[in-house]
Amino acid sequence: SPQVGVLALQGDVREHLAAVAAAGATPISVRRREELDAVDGLIIPGGESTTMSRLLGVFDLYDPLRARLRDGMPAYGSCAGMIMLASEILDTRPDARHLDALDITVRRNAFGRQVESFETDLEVDGITDGHPMRAVFIRAPWVERAGDTVEVLARVTEGPAEGRIVAVRQGDVLATSFHPEVTGDRRVHEYFVGMVAAKIE
Ligand code: GLN
Repeated sequence: SPQVGVLALQGDVREHLAAVAAAGATPISVRRREELDAVDGLIIPGGESTTMSRLLGVFDLYDPLRARLRDGMPAYGSCAGMIMLASEILDTRPDARHLDALDITVRRNAFGRQVESFETDLEVDGITDGHPMRAVFIRAPWVERAGDTVEVLARVTEGPAEGRIVAVRQGDVLATSFHPEVTGDRRVHEYFVGMVAAKIE
């Protein structure tokens, strides 16, 4: 089965490792260069993107990770992970580095600084097929701009964030503003494991 890494510098790593196993792949915690080199795909979890950015430098993983992404390694970023994969970030620290693997502009903490969390049911193209999934947003970003070759997979359909883009895919890179690892709904992880499996066939 595909070896799916979870970047384990910070954030909700354990939940993603469990979700990867439940989705039928072998989960690998990635904190060192050799672990990164060994995986077929990588999940970047939710957490705090500015901290994760700093730790990528501390662990000497920034350049190797960018290189693997440029080579087409499948990647999935949730929340802070989406921010890390984006090409442009609004409302971040000037020294925060990101991975520039997805042609989107994201706004951090977009649902409002006071809004710790927001939940809604979402249809996600290619994933939910008429059976919406509960989406949990925790100090989440949204996508303010998606490039021409980015597929928009989901938009919020109610509340103050109505119409906002919250799931995207561009080639081998998938990102969601929400946290599927916390609900027990494994469909996003199954979809990503499918992307990884297709790549190594
Ligand atoms: N607000 C966080 C950030 O900017 C993301 C929150 C999350 O991943 N749950 O990185």
